[in-house]
Amino acid sequence: MDSVAIVTGGSRGIGRATALAAAKRGYKVVVGYASNKAAADEVVAAIAAGNGKAIAMKCDVGVEADIVDLFKQADGFGTLAALVNNAGVVDRTARVDEMSAERLTRMMTINVVGSILCAREAVKRMSRKHGGSGGVIVNLSSVAATLGSPGLYVDYAASKGAIDTFTVGLAREVSAEGIRVNAIRPGLIDTDIHASGGEAGRAQRLAHTVPMQRVGTAEEVANAVVWLMSDEASYVTGTIFDVSGGR
Ligand code: NAP
Repeated sequence: MDSVAIVTGGSRGIGRATALAAAKRGYKVVVGYASNKAAADEVVAAIAAGNGKAIAMKCDVGVEADIVDLFKQADGFGTLAALVNNAGVVDRTARVDEMSAERLTRMMTINVVGSILCAREAVKRMSRKHGGSGGVIVNLSSVAATLGSPGLYVDYAASKGAIDTFTVGLAREVSAEGIRVNAIRPGLIDTDIHASGGEAGRAQRLAHTVPMQRVGTAEEVANAVVWLMSDEASYVTGTIFDVSGGR
């Protein structure tokens, strides 16, 4: 199989688990990362150890030139079949009356603009309108989009609300061109992202609020992502799929 999957933020957490799961399904994986080259290289090595193919590429999705370059380099690796718009950030816990314009611009640039620009590059390659042979896009949203994250990071929640709307709109825009677009809304997943919000133990602390009474793993989210990428999901588009233990 010569099908390439690009996973932005594939060096750690949900992106890492997705990169590994996609490789197991036969994709050649482009592992995007922002700054942690060592982590991305470890993912590539783990894929190679399982006889898969992967390359690591630095791509800050907050920088348009990085995105354009990522896709150009991926063109030399095979045919783009899947994009997982996984890269995303939270900021320190804050109320809205404490948020700076700089913080909000960074949040929206990485989480929203970055995902839309990556999708733009993917559509140019996948769409039958542009001579492509179709493909799949999976966006990482969050249950924060429905909860709003009051007192924590409403800006992050709003960025994920935008991802939900974008998912529905893009799915309808490109369905007839052979591209399926879906989103996953993870709940509390055990990754490093909680430390970025200032509380590394946040997921475990809130585990009792989850109907299933536990946090989820990156692999449990990745399983849903690769299912949406697969032909098993051939009639699924414009869907927002909760992987949240019922939260
Ligand atoms: P994580 O453990 O913090 O990992 C973040 C990944 O994204 C890393 O690979 C990081 O690269 C990369 N990244 C960060 N900023 C980037 C940028 N500007 N450009 C490109 N890559 C960047 O995060 P995670 O928990 O796996 O989250 C993955 C996605 O799931 C995010 O979109 C997040 O919002 C969403 N999500 C997570 C949870 C959860 O509970 N964990 C819940 C709901 C939704 P480096 O290694 O180079 O830093």
